[in-house]
Amino acid sequence: MDFALSEEQQAIFDMARSFGQDRIAPNALAWEEAGDIPKDLWPEVGELGFGGLYVSEESGGAGLTRLDATLVFEALSMACPSVAAFLSIHNMCAKMLDAFGSDALKAELLPDVLSMQRVLSYCLTEPGSGSDAAALKTRAAATEGGYALTGTKAFISGGGYSDGYMVMARTGGDGPKGISTLYVPDGTPGLSFGGLERKMGWKSQPTRQVQFDGCEVPASNLLGEEGRGFAYAMMGLDGGRLNIASCSLGAAQAALDATIAYMGERRAFGKSLSEFQALQFRLADLEIELQAARVFLRQAAWKLDQGAPDATKHCAMAKKFVTEAGSKIVNQCLQLHGGYGYLADYGIEKLVRDLRVHEILEGTNEIMRLITARSLLST
Ligand SMILES: Cc1cc2nc3c(=O)[nH]c(=O)nc-3n(C[C@H](O)[C@H](O)[C@H](O)COP(=O)(O)OP(=O)(O)OC[C@H]3O[C@@H](n4cnc5c(N)ncnc54)[C@H](O)[C@@H]3O)c2cc1C
Repeated sequence: MDFALSEEQQAIFDMARSFGQDRIAPNALAWEEAGDIPKDLWPEVGELGFGGLYVSEESGGAGLTRLDATLVFEALSMACPSVAAFLSIHNMCAKMLDAFGSDALKAELLPDVLSMQRVLSYCLTEPGSGSDAAALKTRAAATEGGYALTGTKAFISGGGYSDGYMVMARTGGDGPKGISTLYVPDGTPGLSFGGLERKMGWKSQPTRQVQFDGCEVPASNLLGEEGRGFAYAMMGLDGGRLNIASCSLGAAQAALDATIAYMGERRAFGKSLSEFQALQFRLADLEIELQAARVFLRQAAWKLDQGAPDATKHCAMAKKFVTEAGSKIVNQCLQLHGGYGYLADYGIEKLVRDLRVHEILEGTNEIMRLITARSLLST
């Protein structure tokens, strides 16, 4: 058993970390205030090979393992979890396109998706179905040359911002087997967007409803087979959960690093904060939790890469554990900064707000427990 990163993995982490610190961290607060990640960031990210992290090398992607990909998200989140998480969503869509897209669709889209000239959003949730995603109602009716979509998707990260949408829609009867995945490019007649959602965190990425009103796409925009869309959507989620957990991990690490530095500088009662043993113990507890989270997360990623039979359970457990640990750590870091932690300029309160949603999306942490319990009870 080897717990060390290989030289190549360390290089991937270092490259992502240095890009994040140079290009994202100095802008994170301004982008949050503007509610916008400038579109010209993405081709720079694409140049690093991060637009298709686990798209196969034959298709022009980076062909990384899931474990390698977690390193990218951990490192980028040390700069801004909102920007890093947006990249995770684009990568879920890129993988779906590579794995299930028709040759025509791949030829048309993949080069721009990999270079991130074209960014993608993932459209599963609807106003009436979140955790129970297979109850979705958006319909894709067959037309002469393809499909016409009608319905509404809710909470879509990048809604009204992205260049294309991977949409899970009903082509058949009720339940998961009636669902297909279709690609809908921005600008398609009948595609419109709700107002910008005002939210607690992840403020730099726009979240909107995505609405389809007789939105026509050709048959070649169907991914894979009709009726398999829910399976395709779920296939991306094990990896998506690892990525979101990595975003919590990286942000928690950044908050802890900042807190250690702050405690060395800040003085109270004639000593630096780092000299109070009660606070030293608090730091120690945070470090223990962070390291446990990292090892658990990387083990889950390794299991997914190995195709281990219990990989889905481990991804769910790691998502639950690491996102909750991350939230707890950044909140404690805010406390150790005193009143300054509450001020935006110190960057810690943003992390508390950004990380909260990681406990809700890519499957809520209750659903992660459900997956874990089901797996335990079925054996
Ligand atoms: C900022 C943000 C960005 C998002 N981005 C996207 C995106 O890009 N694409 C996309 O498709 N979706 C996106 N989502 C949606 C997200 O995935 C859903 O919000 C999430 O799956 C939960 O669904 P829901 O909000 O409908 O809650 P519900 O499913 O209504 O759940 C409400 C509560 O009940 C609990 N619950 C539900 N069912 C069970 C059960 N069986 N057992 C125990 N507890 C249960 C839940 O855990 C939760 O606590 C985003 C959400 C947010 C907030």
